[in-house]
Amino acid sequence: MVRQENLKKIIGIPRAISYYNNYTFYYGFFKSLGIEIVLSDKTTTKLINEGSKYVVSDTCLPVKVFVGHVINLLNKGCNTVFVPSIQSTGYKINNCSKIRGLPEIIRNVINRPFKMIEPTLDKTEGFGIKEFCFETAHQLGIRDKKLINSAISSGREMYNRFLEMAKSGIPHGEAVENAVKGNYVLKKMSLVKPLSVVIMAHGYNLFDERISMNILNKLNKMNVKAYTCLDITRTDAINSIHELDEIQYWANELDLTGTAAYFMLNKKIDGIIALSAFGCGPDSLMVDEIQYHANERKIPMLHLNIDEHTGEAGFVTRLEAFTDMLERKKRKQLLQCNKPKNIEIAINKKQIQEPKVLTKVK
Ligand code: SF4
Repeated sequence: MVRQENLKKIIGIPRAISYYNNYTFYYGFFKSLGIEIVLSDKTTTKLINEGSKYVVSDTCLPVKVFVGHVINLLNKGCNTVFVPSIQSTGYKINNCSKIRGLPEIIRNVINRPFKMIEPTLDKTEGFGIKEFCFETAHQLGIRDKKLINSAISSGREMYNRFLEMAKSGIPHGEAVENAVKGNYVLKKMSLVKPLSVVIMAHGYNLFDERISMNILNKLNKMNVKAYTCLDITRTDAINSIHELDEIQYWANELDLTGTAAYFMLNKKIDGIIALSAFGCGPDSLMVDEIQYHANERKIPMLHLNIDEHTGEAGFVTRLEAFTDMLERKKRKQLLQCNKPKNIEIAINKKQIQEPKVLTKVK
């Protein structure tokens, strides 16, 4: 049980939605302000079921999960919870209505007394990171400008460290853990695997191991290299969307359209996996868009649509069927290249190949 001796000194952060992209920033910021952070537990089936009780059934999974995490924090005795309203992340680059209205959803569905810290990020209207942080601090009763500015710098610094580690190949969860502990670890070399795919998904779906059914680990065990939004820069993602003659509209589009487009255009992948939440409007548009471009380039694509009832067995079967198909396709392509000696080396899934092997196959 959290000791809530002073409401201003403790803030609960739900391990959902913006947590997955921004936690290291929040951590550096709040710690520097002298606020203690309480995190909700990792997502479990019980937590999802708890969150689902509070909202109508066709609400998307990530929002049900978010509600479950707020309940988890309240059950821990945390009376101040951080629920930001992230409206737009660039000029006219919008979030979906559920993320924009997250504080309103929580207020309306959870009928329990607690304080919500609910700053707004709306770059279309001129409310950027600085305004967002000042509003957060003011809601916590902190008005010292110098302190707030220094907390923003600490948040940025921690976030940049996290990003560098994640981009070097350290798994998302480990990179977060290292960053908040003040460790700085870079992965020296990533092994080249026989097959590679790109996953287009929101960070809050992909990096939540329960929501994503730990897809990254599963692919790793299948000896498939999975690229994600953490493997490219923001500029790469934006440029790739433009190269497809598309316009970025949704805030999360860089993690989905941008990431898929980048790898598709750079021809580094054997397939695309779209992981989306049932009932998500923006996802269905982005997945259709990428499916169209993937069809044009004859790149196989698998769409995994998830909700709280998705069973692991069916999920794994679809993943295995897809990777088997990719393997057969690659084997056929290599045979057509008349390089039989290299085929077994490149395709044998039991082997992890060093980069030089794939160079030979080309
Ligand atoms: S973008 Fe989609 S998955 Fe995310 S909160 Fe909105 S509706 Fe749900």
